[in-house]
Amino acid sequence: MTVLVINSGSSSIKYQLFKGALALAGGVVERIGEPKSRFVHRLFQNRQTIDEAVFEQPISDHGEGMSQVFTALVESGCLQHKADLLGIGHRVVHGGEAFKEPTLINDQVLAKIAEIIPLAPLHNPANLKGIQVALEIYPDVPQVAVFDTAFHQTLPPSIFHYPLPHSWYKTHHIRRYGFHGTSHHYISKQAAAYLKQPLETLNLITLHLGNGASATAIKAGKSIDTSMGMTPLEGLMMGTRCGDIDPSLPLYLTQVLGKSPEDLNSLLNRESGLKGICGANDMRQVHALAKAGDPLASLAIEMYCYRIKKYIGAYYAVLGRLDVLIFTGGIGENDAMIRNSVCAELAHLGIVIDHKKNQTASHDIFAIQGEAGAVTVLVIPTDEELEIAQQTLDLIQNQKCLGAYS
Ligand code: ADP
Repeated sequence: MTVLVINSGSSSIKYQLFKGALALAGGVVERIGEPKSRFVHRLFQNRQTIDEAVFEQPISDHGEGMSQVFTALVESGCLQHKADLLGIGHRVVHGGEAFKEPTLINDQVLAKIAEIIPLAPLHNPANLKGIQVALEIYPDVPQVAVFDTAFHQTLPPSIFHYPLPHSWYKTHHIRRYGFHGTSHHYISKQAAAYLKQPLETLNLITLHLGNGASATAIKAGKSIDTSMGMTPLEGLMMGTRCGDIDPSLPLYLTQVLGKSPEDLNSLLNRESGLKGICGANDMRQVHALAKAGDPLASLAIEMYCYRIKKYIGAYYAVLGRLDVLIFTGGIGENDAMIRNSVCAELAHLGIVIDHKKNQTASHDIFAIQGEAGAVTVLVIPTDEELEIAQQTLDLIQNQKCLGAYS
């Protein structure tokens, strides 16, 4: 029942090894291809790190990085034989319209993921590379692609289309795809299990607030609207990404300030959001600046919360009835002040926070709604790796039942 989860980036490989729902080991290979690569391998017990090894030596490419991961897993006793590994689950950022669920990887699937590269030029090539090197090392282990976009493939046409010439959808695949799907899906299932109610009976708004941030409206277990769009730039204000802005602004910046497409890409993705307003993109740092009296840091926090509140209002209207509001991601899970500001003055929607419960510090799910609130408000630690491991396991076991594997 051992499953390895791999999240391969352009210069990094993150991984976690699971036995059932239990994470045994994990780590990251960073700065691949640079003179000073770094490899951190950790062993876990009861979700705590019990051992950590750090290696600093050049790692020339993803193939070498992946080999070192497998060697570390064997040498630390997590894997004895190749046959111990039931499957490998790969995070793939963009599945376009081709992938609506986790998919067993074969040559056609690899070709299709490569076809989607124009939609995610930074992410999909790196994800593909991770799959290719894992296939070289473990050719006999079934490998599964789990897509960030898949959960949002249930969006109806009136929501996924942009009000742009329809032919662009046909010829250039321009539409809303949405991201963070694995996280939104995972926390919605966690909420249903916590509340002991079938997910299909619940209307939820899920807020994933990390460096990237997105909101999703979920009805009957399906994503019916989500704030990120064709790319992860749309929607909420983020650490360094602007989120929703006037679509004429890039044109203005080009014509009036002479910015190139590359400048714009960098400005809107890496120099905007919290960082654009107050110079810091880490929310802890933004709070520290605000506390020290920096008015721009206070403005950034106010803008950040206002924009989340606006999406809650919009999704409330779309859902008609709201049962559960969920906070997750580094900020959603840890930042009581942000949760409080987001929910302030939403009593007319049935959203009321209990200030004491909101101060809870926990690595488990906790509820923070006050007695006067009709909406259950939950803080749920997300675990995208575990969700990928479970989806991988489910798919491989189903395939085995169908006789696809001996
Ligand atoms: P990523 O999207 O890269 O996975 P995370 O989900 O880890 O990011 O979220 C990173 C954000 O969470 C940062 O803005 C960080 O400041 C914030 N964060 C993490 N821990 C805390 C905390 N204890 N209090 C407030 N913010 C926190």
